[in-house]
Amino acid sequence: MSGYVYDFTDGNKDLKDLLGGKGANLAEMTRMGLPVPPGFTITTEACRAYLRTGDLPAGLLDEVEDHLRAVQLKLDKTFGDPNDPLLLSVRSGAKFSMPGMMETILDIGLNDQSVQGLARQSGDERFAWDSYRRLIQMLGRTVFDVPAEAFDTETAEDPRELVTAYQKIFEEHTGRAFPQAPHEQLFLAIGAVFRSWNAERAVLYRRQERIPQDLGTAVNVMAMVFGNRGEDSGTGVAFTRDPATGRRGCYGDYLRDAQGEDVVAGIRNTLPLHELATVDPTSYAQLLSIMQRLEQRYRDLCDIEFTIENGKLWMLQTRVGKRTAAAAFVIAAQLVEEGVITLDEALQRVTGEQLAQLMFPSFDETAAPAPLTTGVPASPGAAVGAVVFDSAAAAAADQPVILVRRETNPDDLPGMIAAQGILTARGGKTSHAAVVARGMGKTCVCGAEEIRIGADSFTVGEHTVRAGEVISIDGANGRVYPGPVPVRPSKVVRFFEGEQGAEGDQLLSAIQRLMIHADHVAQLGVHANADTGADAVRARRFGATGIGLCRTEHMFLGDRRVLVERLILAEDDTEREAALAALLPLQRADFEELFAAMDGLPVTIRLIDPPLHEFLPPLDELTARVARAEALSEDAGHAGVLLNAVRRMHEANPMLGLRGVRLGLVVPGLFGMQVRAVAEAAAARLAAGGDPQPEIMVPLVSAVPELEIVRAEAEKVLASVPGVPPIRIGTMIEVPRAALTAGQIATVAEFFSFGTNDLTQMTWAFSRDDVEGAFFGRYLELGVFGASPFETIDRDGVGELVRVAVERGRAARPDLTVGVCGEHGGDPASVRFFHEAGLDYVSCSPFRVPIARLEAGRAAV
Ligand code: PEP
Ligand code: MG
Repeated sequence: MSGYVYDFTDGNKDLKDLLGGKGANLAEMTRMGLPVPPGFTITTEACRAYLRTGDLPAGLLDEVEDHLRAVQLKLDKTFGDPNDPLLLSVRSGAKFSMPGMMETILDIGLNDQSVQGLARQSGDERFAWDSYRRLIQMLGRTVFDVPAEAFDTETAEDPRELVTAYQKIFEEHTGRAFPQAPHEQLFLAIGAVFRSWNAERAVLYRRQERIPQDLGTAVNVMAMVFGNRGEDSGTGVAFTRDPATGRRGCYGDYLRDAQGEDVVAGIRNTLPLHELATVDPTSYAQLLSIMQRLEQRYRDLCDIEFTIENGKLWMLQTRVGKRTAAAAFVIAAQLVEEGVITLDEALQRVTGEQLAQLMFPSFDETAAPAPLTTGVPASPGAAVGAVVFDSAAAAAADQPVILVRRETNPDDLPGMIAAQGILTARGGKTSHAAVVARGMGKTCVCGAEEIRIGADSFTVGEHTVRAGEVISIDGANGRVYPGPVPVRPSKVVRFFEGEQGAEGDQLLSAIQRLMIHADHVAQLGVHANADTGADAVRARRFGATGIGLCRTEHMFLGDRRVLVERLILAEDDTEREAALAALLPLQRADFEELFAAMDGLPVTIRLIDPPLHEFLPPLDELTARVARAEALSEDAGHAGVLLNAVRRMHEANPMLGLRGVRLGLVVPGLFGMQVRAVAEAAAARLAAGGDPQPEIMVPLVSAVPELEIVRAEAEKVLASVPGVPPIRIGTMIEVPRAALTAGQIATVAEFFSFGTNDLTQMTWAFSRDDVEGAFFGRYLELGVFGASPFETIDRDGVGELVRVAVERGRAARPDLTVGVCGEHGGDPASVRFFHEAGLDYVSCSPFRVPIARLEAGRAAV
């Protein structure tokens, strides 16, 4: 057993790289003795070979023939036998699920003869000819690119006539007769599935979901079983727990006398799964027991696809099921309670992104009008936007939109990505719209059956909503409201803020349990970036154990800007000292507030960083003001003075100009005033019985002498203020030179904090303020990087500098504290990196503190 093809009896659930998710799980179910139709899987390796060369790899066809013989033996039937044909399905199945993105071809092996054999054997003419019709359509579309609409225009009632008509359409578009040889059909279908890996929508989906583009798909070839053979047949999908809420108990949809595709497409409305208990109690009982076994085997929520053919149950697919963010937390905590998984494993079952989703706001229902209608709540969230009816309009819109469709199909993907939310008239929680929206974390209401969709509007009873009108949809309860509905904060946020207890609430209790464990195992601390008392209070409630970055320049905005202006315009020492003296008490008061809010925890005060011109009016505005005054022969007065100063300070590349530590060396007394404010505030807090723990941090250092000079001045100031607690002095590492010379810098710095915003800017030579809009879209498209390096740390480049600096810094000073305070501190993937790099803490915006705490715990297990 090796090569390109594995029988279902040969594989297992751990071979997803090679057999894809579907193939590996079909093999696992086969090994468990569950009723899986016989078949085999062609590996992803074969797909990669095909995509490289454009040909099926040598030897593949012989291997397929061998495995096909084994299937025939098991069923005692012959592929394409004119009297009693074995028919095959050919389905894609990549390592990561890509719902509906690639091809499936059913009923392979039917031709002008065997269709008659099938009709005789089944005693059902209509079913046999209808199956043949489906094959012509699917093979035509997927292998020969016959446009889907070409078949839609044909309306004949009699399936035999439809087959004749479809064959004619096929011939017109392809210039050849529909292939009659079963083996040719099979090989063509295999090639088409391989090629569908690179279909535009599949590429787009992978980009969106960050799935690597070079994995390839496996192909599963399986004996057909039919759910469309009358009332004792049918097909369904089911979950072992509710994928929306995590509630215990089986949940799903069943469709009588239908094939699987009909359910997934959401084209016909389904019965709730429990009604199968009345329709076919034996199959229902068997299904429940299989689902229980699958949960035990996978130790997680599973979803399944099954078919009942004339009263016999067949399992067509299983996998660990997708779920909403809320369900992920609830199920993880339940499984711990049930003794199925450990708390460490539970942390692996949830993500910081999911927690972020739960911190989104929801509608304020007290301010909502009567709903227009209610559909199936398929993916949570509160979305408000203008109605659009097609994917292209959604993708092109420059305002928030809700994509409204009868049902969605994979071609709607660009619109679904662009829209705030998705509303469909047909289909259940397992329809395409629901599955894809849940995967993207996008609000979705589906199956709102009262909605009638026209060309440019939809109606519900008497009410008409036209394209461009705003509606609001609630993915938590399925309600659709006319107009915009006000949104309010999430209960998870209220819980973190201490305004709502977890008791009696399944979701909050689950989050609480996992957060406690995350904090317990985490090795990274989580601090917050905060500049005001209010932010600090919030950060502390959210679980921050310090402030990692107080950007003091934020304290100089608003009314205080004029004071900085005075400092900049000062012409002599007296004027400058007066300006600084005016700033000192304000800074001191700010710091006292921060130290009080963070009593007992470290507060890292960063000395002023941005170029000074940011505190003055823009050059063009001043130029215009002065020009106007001159035109009226008036004295430009203060504006003229300002203009001169701005001109003097104008820099072509201010982010690399006079800022950070350079200001400290050039503007006498500025840093000294800030250090004094810190010292006096700390002394005052201490005297008042508090426990202030300030630290002073110097920005944009490149070379050790810069830091030495600032440090000496700071120490002098600290020594001059009585009653000051110990205050550590450290530096940001945000210039590549500082990272490389970290060994020297650490001799003067008691701590490092990586400013990964600037470090990324300077390592890539990407202007922070210019590149995102300018060309990052193109870079992402071209795959230069998978995510913006300003959002997720670039491990290879910037990350390497971080590793080097940590190593050299700690070698010089073993008790060096090392943190990060760039935006990356709140990004889940980056938090994992900082854990691996051995940092002491990450610092991020208050709102992201719980997310970073969870990720710090996840990184440690
Ligand atoms: C940084 O550069 O990462 C940083 C935190 O400083 P700022 O964003 O204020 O430049
Ligand atoms: Mg910076």
